[in-house]
Amino acid sequence: MSTTMGDGTRAVRAGLPEPEQYEPTLPGPVFAAHFHLSGEPVGPYTYGRDTNPTWTRLERAISELEAPGETAETTVFASGMAAITAVLLSQTRTGDAVVLPDDGYQALPLVREQLEAYGVEVRTAPTAGDAQLALLEGAKLLWIETPSNPGLDVCDVRRLVEAAHGAGALVAVDNTLATPIGQRPLELGADFSVASDTKGMTGHGDILLGHVTCRDPGLTAAVRRWRKVVGAIPGPMEAWLAHRSLSTLQLRIDRQCTTALTLAEALGKRAEVSGLRYPGLPDDPSYPKAVRQMRRFGSVVSFVLADRETAERFLAGLRLVDDATSFGGVRSTAERRARWGGDAVPEGFIRFSVGAEDPEDLLADVERALDEASR
Ligand SMILES: *Cc1c(COP(=O)(O)O)cnc(C)c1O
Repeated sequence: MSTTMGDGTRAVRAGLPEPEQYEPTLPGPVFAAHFHLSGEPVGPYTYGRDTNPTWTRLERAISELEAPGETAETTVFASGMAAITAVLLSQTRTGDAVVLPDDGYQALPLVREQLEAYGVEVRTAPTAGDAQLALLEGAKLLWIETPSNPGLDVCDVRRLVEAAHGAGALVAVDNTLATPIGQRPLELGADFSVASDTKGMTGHGDILLGHVTCRDPGLTAAVRRWRKVVGAIPGPMEAWLAHRSLSTLQLRIDRQCTTALTLAEALGKRAEVSGLRYPGLPDDPSYPKAVRQMRRFGSVVSFVLADRETAERFLAGLRLVDDATSFGGVRSTAERRARWGGDAVPEGFIRFSVGAEDPEDLLADVERALDEASR
């Protein structure tokens, strides 16, 4: 699709087949463990763990969003973690070194243990200050998560990519928080754009899914081979629902990002709120980097309340915001992140995911719950 097209237009048309008389615009899910196949076993669709036409359409759609006007290929997975481990485990061998963030997604320490069990050296540094730069010598792969989750720090992707490529390392970016309409890692030079599509990408809190997008056909082949070997494949129904959800990606994310900024501004005026973070706030430490590489700043706002009890009272007092983990959905959610353990955050730390509610309703609910919690 053309690069000059707007994000909303691209989202509603992404991955659609050429119009065919009497066929639906987005053909329904193809449920098939195997396909009719006589003679030599070649062709696009042979066995359901290798390929499926519903995945193909979704993969084309995601590629158009991740790399408009370029040739890139996407591989979809059963979850974000399936996509993440497909890159890390297909690209590394015993004796290789990998650089991870030490403040990224909470399952990365488990991935680290697995990599180390296979004899891969794992080095970690914070996202902020581009601290991973110092660990690149001799590394095989640099893994970046920006904005980081849940701390919302941002690193300079172009700068890290340049240094990593100079050191002979590949670069993967976890783009879950931004989604491809918020940030396009391949355009910033990364080799892999990876995401959990469980979050903002599908946006309804009802599917688990993940993807990997690459420009290099060799890297795509390795990732596809990994999917085939491990079998971490999405169901056709999930893939179809995800594709259907992409048509509203720009509408949802625009609304959520605009309200997130409004909420962050309102929270900034509250005396009981400290440690407020939103990459789109001009005085946020992430802003100078975010503004150079992001096109939208995401739907997640984080802040700290006095203590665990105040945070719990705040969450219990919210009526329009569900106390739940995950983020990026059309219904706002918030949680006290320290309840999970593992993240280096204070007891009163709240990760707030802004949904598509009317901003006035959401702000009124938050202000009231804050008043009540601090009383
Ligand atoms: C949720 C999340 C993941 C894991 O995705 P699943 O779909 O739950 O497997 C990975 N990275 C980030 C940044 C996430 O938020």
